[in-house]
Amino acid sequence: MTADYIIVGAGSAGCVIANRLSADPNNSVILLEAGGRDWNPWIHIPVGYFKTMHNPSTDWCYRTEADPGLNGRQLAWPRGKVLGGSSSINGLLYVRGQPQDYDHWRQLGNAGWGWEDVKPLFLRAEKQQRGADAYHGTAGTLSVSDPQLSRPIVDAWVKAAQAAGYPYNRDFNGETQEGVGYFQLTAQNGRRCSAATAFLKPVRHRPNLRIVTRAQVQRLALENRRAIGVHYRNAAGADRLLRANREVILSAGAIGSPQLLMLSGVGEAAHLRDLGIPVVADLPGVGRNLQDHLQARLVFTCHQPTLNDEARNPLRKLAMAAQYAWNRTGPMAMAASLAAGFLRTSPHLETPDIQFHIQPWSADSPGEGVHPFSAFTMSVCQLRPESRGEIRLKSADPFAHPLIRPNYLATQSDQQTLVAGIKIARAIAGFDPLRGCISGELRPGPATSDDGLLEWARNSATTIYHPVGTCKMGAGPEAVVNHRLQVQGIEGLRIADCSIMPSIISGNTNAPAMMIGEKLSDLLRSGQ
Ligand SMILES: Cc1cc2nc3c(=O)[nH]c(=O)nc-3n(C[C@H](O)[C@H](O)[C@H](O)COP(=O)(O)OP(=O)(O)OC[C@H]3O[C@@H](n4cnc5c(N)ncnc54)[C@H](O)[C@@H]3O)c2cc1C
Repeated sequence: MTADYIIVGAGSAGCVIANRLSADPNNSVILLEAGGRDWNPWIHIPVGYFKTMHNPSTDWCYRTEADPGLNGRQLAWPRGKVLGGSSSINGLLYVRGQPQDYDHWRQLGNAGWGWEDVKPLFLRAEKQQRGADAYHGTAGTLSVSDPQLSRPIVDAWVKAAQAAGYPYNRDFNGETQEGVGYFQLTAQNGRRCSAATAFLKPVRHRPNLRIVTRAQVQRLALENRRAIGVHYRNAAGADRLLRANREVILSAGAIGSPQLLMLSGVGEAAHLRDLGIPVVADLPGVGRNLQDHLQARLVFTCHQPTLNDEARNPLRKLAMAAQYAWNRTGPMAMAASLAAGFLRTSPHLETPDIQFHIQPWSADSPGEGVHPFSAFTMSVCQLRPESRGEIRLKSADPFAHPLIRPNYLATQSDQQTLVAGIKIARAIAGFDPLRGCISGELRPGPATSDDGLLEWARNSATTIYHPVGTCKMGAGPEAVVNHRLQVQGIEGLRIADCSIMPSIISGNTNAPAMMIGEKLSDLLRSGQ
């Protein structure tokens, strides 16, 4: 088999690229995905992330190494393994980040990646339910819509945050990100709009596009430092070589893309030699620069019922299912969080440095059963952590999971910012109308000192599922791709997914991943 372009990974970025490149009938495109088709009905029901995350039929089910910053705890790191990738199992929250994030990328030397360059790409993809304006598009296929439910405890949080002095914001992707309000979702009529729904479904019958599922790429085929194709194992368990006439594009995500480079001999030479992998290009930055958002989850018990009570009552559960079946609304149409806050921990900061995710339910950890009492969650994360972790190979076996070392809370500034965020959460809880709803603070509970709050975070904080940066774009010695997303020192190979972010954006990472797919498509279509 051959194709002009081979795309590895049908995730948020890969689906966009497959769509845009196959729009030209002169291009032949093959999209290889390790996971299966998105036939599981829970993928398309928003609240189904509770069923698809930690489920090996749709999730890679990675686990981090014991993390020193988390007092030696290991975390589950879900990543989508199915058409649509992580966009098929994520929390549906649609956030682009701050214009300054992209201007910073450009200032690092990445021409063409400033906010004014990338903003049109977000708009082009978007089908905004509220209509078009200076910040939103309606001509795309990625449906973005308002939530299909509200809950009094979340409304009370939004009002209390305003009483605490934070402005209301009806659009975190509009003129400014700062403030408190409600998330918009990648959903249409109460159904998930994954990257596969938005970008593959409408074009899957194109004769020049082939989508191959259950095809796990083992390594790149490299000849004289040029990518000529990929080696993969197909659904029948047979190993195949697929040749690319023009380029190979890695969109295997922030864990998969560096892993595939290293398996192919592209990475830090000493590390590859330790594993007996012949070195093709000594690129020390591969797998380094790993960044993620770490969430501290405060739980408050309530006088009034929350979703915990609804979800534990069999009759209410039946009613939820009936409501969803009837008009696709109610808790089953719920994204991972209802409300958000993008706030500054210091007035001297130019833009928000922490994000809140407000959930009308609580659990020991996301994906586990809800608590048997009325409670809700205020999750807070630092938006631009300084700490950097890494992805390394455990072995040369392409089917073994790599080592994931997130290295959370490694710097003093990260520790201070998270503690400041926890204190802001507590302060908001003291304002009406929220104060009147709360019967007690379950977590962190008695801790009062900064050290006590930090210790609580180290013992309980978890990922909010945004790993990025492991094949960083730039020009320095740690850069893996240049601003055209070409891998340094290897011809015919590009990377487009969250791994190329030089620094993590200030928000959720699905929309930016799709934008990166749009950008690569434009680069290729214009011959750059
Ligand atoms: C549980 C969860 C909740 C999240 N919630 C949100 C949210 O609410 N809002 C938000 O904006 N972001 C959210 N995110 C993050 C966001 O979804 C991801 O950052 C984004 O989807 C990543 O896109 P990507 O293209 O980089 O990688 P992915 O979408 O992960 O795609 C990578 C694809 O490559 C495939 N692949 C990997 N290795 C191979 C191989 N060797 N051969 C073939 N195929 C391979 C994978 O199976 C996958 O399909 C969440 C993520 C998770 C996991």
